Amino acid sequence: MLTQESVLQALSHIIDPDFKKDIVSLGFIKNMKISDDLVAFDIELTTPACPIKVEFQRSAEKAVLALEGVKQVAVNMTSRPQKQRANNSDAMKNVKSIIAVASCKGGVGKSTVAAHLADELATRGFKVGLLDTDLFGPSVPTLFNIHDARIMQTADNLLLPYVAENGLKLMSFGFLMGSGPAIMRGPMVAGYIQQVLNQTAWEELDYLILDLPPGTGDIQLTITQTVQITGAVIVTTRQSLSLVDVSKGIEMFEKVNVPMLGIVENMSYFLCDNCDKKHYIFGDSTKTSLEDTYGLKTLAEIPLKPEMSRKLSESAGDVDVVNMVDQVIRSLGMQTAEKLERPTISISDQAINLSWADGRKYSLQHRALRLACPCAGCVDEYSGKKLIKAENIAADVRAESVLPLGNYAIVVHWSDGHSSGIYPYSLIEKLPV
Ligand code: ADP
Repeated sequence: MLTQESVLQALSHIIDPDFKKDIVSLGFIKNMKISDDLVAFDIELTTPACPIKVEFQRSAEKAVLALEGVKQVAVNMTSRPQKQRANNSDAMKNVKSIIAVASCKGGVGKSTVAAHLADELATRGFKVGLLDTDLFGPSVPTLFNIHDARIMQTADNLLLPYVAENGLKLMSFGFLMGSGPAIMRGPMVAGYIQQVLNQTAWEELDYLILDLPPGTGDIQLTITQTVQITGAVIVTTRQSLSLVDVSKGIEMFEKVNVPMLGIVENMSYFLCDNCDKKHYIFGDSTKTSLEDTYGLKTLAEIPLKPEMSRKLSESAGDVDVVNMVDQVIRSLGMQTAEKLERPTISISDQAINLSWADGRKYSLQHRALRLACPCAGCVDEYSGKKLIKAENIAADVRAESVLPLGNYAIVVHWSDGHSSGIYPYSLIEKLPV
């Protein structure tokens, strides 16, 4: 007989490739109704633009249609309602997810990545806004080739964003200031920032992409404190200095409790006309990767491409752009799920114990973890060679405190005073227990 259980059983063979669990245990199946030979249900994803959506729908229809007695299947794809964004202003209260795009230096392609992310999601049919908060080098007017935007104000002083052809809503300091360079004192800067953050009439949005000014100073901190950001992406190049700086970005988001979605490496290689070889101009891909160092996913490696340096429309739909957007959204989807909750941490005489709600557990010996410290003082960043010497580490070294960093790493303060190491869970998983 056809029952809810038999339908759920059939659906439990569909595995989410990100969570590596079946969609029934993940709680994605909702509102099931069975009447005669018709089965209807919702698949509720973690974020509306989930790129695996179509695949899930097809597999679910196929699995249920194969059951005896089923003639029709109606699968409705929905997404989990987002929590009320308590800290946000009225103008942003109907924005479901806010993705910040940051970089520690200018010129690494942060605005290009932010603009592509927004544009591609809008082209896929989602309600999207792009807020360019770079006062000193707004890039939206150039990237979108909009030089005559007249921003209107509503009766209650809200700024109406410019709406592009694909429905993407755009707001940029460039629209408010014209093309002249901004020479402003601190209070003026703060005033402008509060205005675009709190007084842009976004109305309902699935995603708002926040293009932050480069760096990790006061302006960036003010913005990240004013807006409740769902997740952050850091854009960098492989140049050694940019890599070192990434840690500053990670720390900034950590301070304001914003989860990191991962890193986009831009201009990481180029393909010349006559060969398929990836030329890594800023270092080759075998060097200690950001993933090993910080435990953060590299969401995409975007090559240096001439079309990426022109106006956005010339590289819209580019395969590297499309893949980058898919990865950002998948990471955002993961972020909202329970699996990524921080572990419970306890320190005993023998070990540091980490345990997660899903049953994962690690018990780490104090000295072994101290010796595995991946910080730049303990491991040479470029060669990967260990600088830390076992004979210099006391036999009774102990963790005095252990703090979770986002949902990807722990920071340990050691009894020998050392505290600069970020231990990503990806590194911890590889340690002998
Ligand atoms: P940022 O926001 O980090 O200052 P931009 O996005 O303004 O950087 O990019 C800096 C310059 O590099 C721009 O001229 C942009 O068109 C160009 N650019 C960005 N990404 C690429 C790429 N992958 N290939 C070629 N040029 C790029």
